[in-house]
Amino acid sequence: MMEIAHGKRLWWKAFLHGTGEGKPSRERGDHVRITKQRLMILDQLRKLTSHPTADDVYHLLRRHMPKISLGTVYRNLEILSEEGLIQKLDVGGTQKRFDGNPQNHYHVRCLHCGRVDDIQMLPMAELEEDARRLSRYDIQRHRLEFVGSCPECRQR
Ligand SMILES: [Zn+2]
Ligand SMILES: [Zn+2]
Repeated sequence: MMEIAHGKRLWWKAFLHGTGEGKPSRERGDHVRITKQRLMILDQLRKLTSHPTADDVYHLLRRHMPKISLGTVYRNLEILSEEGLIQKLDVGGTQKRFDGNPQNHYHVRCLHCGRVDDIQMLPMAELEEDARRLSRYDIQRHRLEFVGSCPECRQR
């Protein structure tokens, strides 16, 4: 768990870039304040590879922070993903899932139980080049989701 000192106003970008505490700077893009709850959520999410839903994160956090509300968890997850510190996944399913790893990587989703895992393969930069050439869009990123049956469901 990362430490934050009481009474000090820390800002995400300064924090992440190692410039420590200080006044927020517009140029640096400091506009989201670090709160204890936000740090806890980030910390919890980075420990997991299960791509939890907001509900899952809420239930885990309640062990450490009994007073935290689902609304707070939702709001903070949205803020963290807007800041690029975590990813909100576009995978199928009814509930949004979150990923503590902000780098592009590929996922596989089970069509039966909904489980989502990472696939340890490098994102293909050439896909974006092809898409840029064929669409004449300024492509910024791509997402790829594989679907199938997970090892547990295959055994059923
Ligand atoms: Zn499954
Ligand atoms: Zn992932």
